[in-house]
Amino acid sequence: MNILLNNPLQPDLNKLTKYLQQVNESHWYTNFGPLHQKLTNRLEEYLGVEHLLLVSNGTLALQVACKALGITSAITTPFSFVATTSSLLWQGMEVAFSDIDPESYNLCPTKLENALTEDEHFDAIVATHVYGNPCNVTEIENVAKKFNKKVIYDAAHAFGVKIGEQSILKFGDASTLSFHATKVFHTVEGGAIIFKHKADFEKAKQFINFGINADGSLGEPGINAKLNEYQCAVGLTLLDDIDAIIKHRAELFKLYCDQLKNIVELPIWHSKASYNGAYMPIYIADSERQLKIIEALTGNNIQCRRYFFPSLDVAYDKQKSFGCFSSQKIALGAICLPLHSYMTENDVLAVTDIIKENI
Ligand SMILES: *Cc1c(COP(=O)(O)O)cnc(C)c1O
Repeated sequence: MNILLNNPLQPDLNKLTKYLQQVNESHWYTNFGPLHQKLTNRLEEYLGVEHLLLVSNGTLALQVACKALGITSAITTPFSFVATTSSLLWQGMEVAFSDIDPESYNLCPTKLENALTEDEHFDAIVATHVYGNPCNVTEIENVAKKFNKKVIYDAAHAFGVKIGEQSILKFGDASTLSFHATKVFHTVEGGAIIFKHKADFEKAKQFINFGINADGSLGEPGINAKLNEYQCAVGLTLLDDIDAIIKHRAELFKLYCDQLKNIVELPIWHSKASYNGAYMPIYIADSERQLKIIEALTGNNIQCRRYFFPSLDVAYDKQKSFGCFSSQKIALGAICLPLHSYMTENDVLAVTDIIKENI
């Protein structure tokens, strides 16, 4: 047995080569070329969004979104992949941490409201739909309105996720995606920003091309965050099969939950959310039991990982924290189990059997 934690989607090479031939024929390798346009259109249609800007990775997506919205300080979640915070600190932003809800592992709206009541000077809220589980977007919007704050969602885990009929990417002033090879959908490296307002999209498009305006004149200085035609070709190739892939991942996720629901603690999902099966997080409070499970899985060639650890308020302890007890607790006990599109239901049962034998 050998079950990988993650296994990136492999593009069909025949299809991919046809796209690469088109690149040679067009002599257009990057800078908003024809495949870039095609992938933009297809993603907007698939995701049910407008104003989608492709960028070179999910980290730059967060940075460019903040720049375009004029944000220089933010209250954010301590329970996420490091890039949610490090990307903001790297561009000199002021960052403060507000705690998560211990059931959903997402930014807690009540604690967020308390934090802003204590210190209102932040420009924005940056929240992650962690593991693809949507934040309480209604409550976060209420808090944002009350204090007149912008909202950015790091939706790197939430590709294809909906609340009811609505894409999760429709909430907030901007949402960011990562198309890194390890994500549900990928372009090897890549990402996107989905803006609520067209004006912000236009500004960001100028920013990711050095700050050059559409008419060739120089505007505010920018960066290079463009996605090239080769990477768009990978995206177009993989997008053909994405519905089946998400369906399969969601089925594996549900099987895991069925098998483990009375055995370990699981985060509680948003009641109206669709599932994309991006990650399979479990929580084991007792550190000895947790270690025993990790060793049993590893001993059977099954990869797993403590994820996300450490809580980011601990990693970046020079930043202000409004108190992140729940995030620190969850970070200690959370483990992600293998979940990827090349796994079978029998693989899932092999993992859950070992957990049941060792808990
Ligand atoms: C992967 C990820 C990122 C960073 O995306 P890259 O494309 O690797 O730069 C940011 N936030 C979260 C939550 C992620 O999982």
